[in-house]
Amino acid sequence: MGIAQAIKELKNELPSTVKLVAVSKFHPSELIKEAYDAGQRIFGESRPQELYKKVNELPSDIEWHFIGHLQTNKLKLVLPYVSLIHSVDSKRLLYEISRYAESHALCVRALLEVHIATEQTKQGFSSDELFELLDGISQQPLPGVKVCGLMGMASFVDDRAQIRGEFETLASLFSKVREKYGDCLADFSELSMGMSEDYPIAVECGSTMVRIGTRIFGARNY
Ligand SMILES: *Cc1c(COP(=O)(O)O)cnc(C)c1O
Repeated sequence: MGIAQAIKELKNELPSTVKLVAVSKFHPSELIKEAYDAGQRIFGESRPQELYKKVNELPSDIEWHFIGHLQTNKLKLVLPYVSLIHSVDSKRLLYEISRYAESHALCVRALLEVHIATEQTKQGFSSDELFELLDGISQQPLPGVKVCGLMGMASFVDDRAQIRGEFETLASLFSKVREKYGDCLADFSELSMGMSEDYPIAVECGSTMVRIGTRIFGARNY
């Protein structure tokens, strides 16, 4: 199936409340342009250098999202160019982003990544760490960052029930955070979950944003 066709099918399939992030990491700009010409405007990248290169090669009305692990020494390649960071996975990173943003007159929108999978290799906050962090920033808001929601990745397993359980855990954390901190986190509205293999389950569990690569662009050549 071609890129344009895949995008068309996904747009038909996804509820209108769910945003499609086309994950273009490791794919060349020509393929991104193909998706762009098919009407796609939100693209997700996971490596700072690669993002920076593509930003300069592609149309300026693309909305770039950063979805990978971000090191604090790479902020300048990412923060000025993205409209959302999905993958804030430590308190230190969040505070460094705010510091950079404030000193460069930016306001960075960010999601906090929560560890819901059984795999230890995946990043993210535990629920205790998440609430501790939110307690901190609700008392002393970060000037450079808008915390806009949560992101999570389910385990890479065939067991659909396990995947559903992990997405439900994340969705329930999301509503708890909204209840508890809704007044001070005015922009907290996005729940980023679901990839090529598991997005239908994620959507059923309340995802507002799916991050889909392989289903659109085919396999990645690392
Ligand atoms: C690569 C990646 C995706 C897309 O994965 P596919 O299985 O190709 O859809 C989504 N989210 C994150 C965080 C990723 O790193």
